[in-house]
Amino acid sequence: MNRPLLIILGLVLGTALGLLCHQWPGPWLDVLIAYIAQPMGQLFLRLIFMVVVPLVFSSLVLGIYELKDFSKLGRVGVKTLVYTLIAAPISVLIGLFLVTFFEPGVGLDHGIMSQLAPKSEILETVQSAESATGILVSLIPKNPLLAATKALEGDMVPFMIFTLIFGMALLLVRGNSSKDPLVGALESLRDVSMKIVDFSMMLAPAGVAGLMFTMTAKFGFGLIGNLGKFVLVVLLGLAIQQFVVFGALLKFYAKKSPWLFFSQIREVMITAFSTSSSNATLPTSIRVAETNLKLDRSISSFILTIGSAANQNGTALYEGVTVLFLAQIFGVHLGFDQQIIVLFMSVVAGIGTAGVPGGSIPLIVIVLQSVGIPPEGIGLVLGVDRLLDMCRTVLNVTGDLVCAQVVDTSERRRS
Ligand code: ASP
Repeated sequence: MNRPLLIILGLVLGTALGLLCHQWPGPWLDVLIAYIAQPMGQLFLRLIFMVVVPLVFSSLVLGIYELKDFSKLGRVGVKTLVYTLIAAPISVLIGLFLVTFFEPGVGLDHGIMSQLAPKSEILETVQSAESATGILVSLIPKNPLLAATKALEGDMVPFMIFTLIFGMALLLVRGNSSKDPLVGALESLRDVSMKIVDFSMMLAPAGVAGLMFTMTAKFGFGLIGNLGKFVLVVLLGLAIQQFVVFGALLKFYAKKSPWLFFSQIREVMITAFSTSSSNATLPTSIRVAETNLKLDRSISSFILTIGSAANQNGTALYEGVTVLFLAQIFGVHLGFDQQIIVLFMSVVAGIGTAGVPGGSIPLIVIVLQSVGIPPEGIGLVLGVDRLLDMCRTVLNVTGDLVCAQVVDTSERRRS
């Protein structure tokens, strides 16, 4: 049986058994949860945690470094960057608005929070993020090694800022050399880290079963309805970005019928949907941009290559929605400054996520940590992740093609 199916099986089994046991609460259930279900979930989560720092560092630095044609293509590079920095926050804001409006995670007994994570720890994290000026200053770490060790205690942003600065510096000093040893080393680090994520995904069926059992045994049927609403909110957000935002850009800026555009790229969307991977879809995107959309090849292959790694609107939206959903589930109130952190981190995560199936999971875990939400919550969404991964990858690659179309139009208008 393939892995996504096994994970779904884990989800269904863990949920069903948890719901069943919820009917007969007692000390025996606490023992079962503490000694079997929770350790199963923790083993799986710890494997993901272990790789977060090397993965974020290597992926983000390389994500920026891969913009190296940026100087060569000058204007096109700047336009692509501007597009990415506008489209991604719009996408996340749509998601954040929807999840705040529909509140898919509200309605549970918030006692869940205190049972899953020590309250003092969470409060500390929340309080430490309270003063806006304090945040600004502490965003720039004095000691990057300390920032890396603190990253997993909920203080991820300074480490990300260090990584962003490091990536920009690398681009400036080594942007023109084709075979820099540091870049080679970072590529290996990224590959090895992805392999470890892969190991953890082997444990995912059992891990998800354990996490789901823990949650449903404690909280019963309430959770299930919340999860269905969460899926609908994500799908609605993706559809709005895909059809309304991209549709408007195509129609009003590129003066092209959105329906014609979508029908010309349908092969790309199908590939993205079935592979859940922007990387695997890249060759199809490059071909379709040239043959169906008739875009200038030098522009489109540049944009699509960078975009497959760095312009992931679907992933950014998903991260934002998931974090707010889990905040609602756990009854964590996120203040305005923390919502800004979620927005910022989701946009950065959209840049730093590897274009592979489930690439965003480790990043969601760190955003959760950063705003004081128990990372165990990820178990709740993992069971529905594959379906949502297929859909968000469609938006990721469509976004790259829309960017290529928009920049191509603007370049044609100049000449
Ligand atoms: N599967 C996505 C992609 O390849 C990344 C993710 O959101 O997990 O674009």
